[in-house]
Amino acid sequence: TIVAGEGSYLIASDGRRSLDACGGAAVSCLGHSELRVREAIRAQLDRVAYTHTGFFTNEPAEALADYLVSHAPSETGEGRVMYLGSGSEAMEAAIKLARQYHLEAGQPQRTKLIARHFSYHGNTLGALAVGGHAARRAPYDPMLIDVAYIDPCYAYRYRQPGEDDETFGRRMADQLEAKLIELGPETVAAFIAEPVVGATLGTQPAAAGYFKRIREICDTHGVLFIADEVMSGMGRTGSLYALDQEGIAADLTTMAKGLGGGFQPIAAVLASAKLCDAIIRGSGRLWNGHTYMSHATSCAGALAVLKVIEDDDLLANVRARGGELQQRLTAELGDHPNIGDIRGRGLFWSFEIVADRETRKPFDAKSRIADRIKDTAMDDGIMCYPSQGCADGINGDHVLIAPAYITTTAEIEEIASRLGRATERVLDEVGARAGPAAAVH
Ligand code: PLP
Repeated sequence: TIVAGEGSYLIASDGRRSLDACGGAAVSCLGHSELRVREAIRAQLDRVAYTHTGFFTNEPAEALADYLVSHAPSETGEGRVMYLGSGSEAMEAAIKLARQYHLEAGQPQRTKLIARHFSYHGNTLGALAVGGHAARRAPYDPMLIDVAYIDPCYAYRYRQPGEDDETFGRRMADQLEAKLIELGPETVAAFIAEPVVGATLGTQPAAAGYFKRIREICDTHGVLFIADEVMSGMGRTGSLYALDQEGIAADLTTMAKGLGGGFQPIAAVLASAKLCDAIIRGSGRLWNGHTYMSHATSCAGALAVLKVIEDDDLLANVRARGGELQQRLTAELGDHPNIGDIRGRGLFWSFEIVADRETRKPFDAKSRIADRIKDTAMDDGIMCYPSQGCADGINGDHVLIAPAYITTTAEIEEIASRLGRATERVLDEVGARAGPAAAVH
């Protein structure tokens, strides 16, 4: 039971301190005690906490929207923002907004969605349906809407020997065009992808040029691109919007975790000018709604989070500490015979654990390697985010690391050495260390 938070640490009722190296689920981007955010929330509570969007807007909701629109990739234009309570709700809202756009634009036949295998977009039925994580989908599969899939841009398992990064990126992006042609491009509403895949693949950025090609294909065929930045957005990868580093903008962008930093639940959908213009010219109103949209204290908290990131130049810290994290993880684990890949961007890193480095064969899911690393690390006072399924939907272990943007070099050292120790301990316990060692770069 946690009773207090202090910077990057959580403190339990028995006094034990845990170094939060993953922000829970990449949420707590400012750690657990930022005073400026707490004060902003308190001040808003003292003014007004909640106003229903059917009657009014409120100051923090407007100010936050202005901030999000003015800092978005420039191709977004004069977009607009809708607020929700969770990443799943934001994904549902983005999908419904894509449908509304096509109806308003006179293309009612555009109903199909294309997403990517090994992605995660949330746990509500619509968001789960566009997700490509076999194990999480399995119990609900018969109830999920039909969605088409392409492979993710996952270099460790999809890049061919000798293939350069750009050729690989182009080949993977071209799967979208092939899928569109198979389905009939005029029937497709949207393509959905995480700019840097989070929990399911383990902080996997795309190859150079991949998203530019995706944008080109979507534009050619009149398909909307929905970027799920719920986990990778709001500074996590070193830029406020993850897609900014790819040189393109999405038609719809969802964000959540780093937006509120965990101080209040909040998520958002940013719609580009193209979408908003079509709706303004059409029915002139948003068809989707939820009771707690534009919650004033949540918006005030999120705005304060973004201002702290800007005022303290924390994106520079994300990039600098991220570089250190990559180096330290590689030093700790890069030569281990069961570490297949170390990948990430900004303060968003993962290592993938394999039974055999030569063949990239994963451990059997029943070995629970990633979960055991989490448990061992927790016993040692450090939190990391384990996941399974990256190799084939069921098997394949990785551990995700997402420290707060305020993290220090000393904390990065501690994260790498303690997680390195926990990983070695678990692999020793299962008697792994089988395959030959070759350095991971
Ligand atoms: N999209 C991505 C990329 C996520 O990582 C998550 C949650 O982990 C979601 C959507 C769903 O967000 P929530 O759990 O807030 O509903």
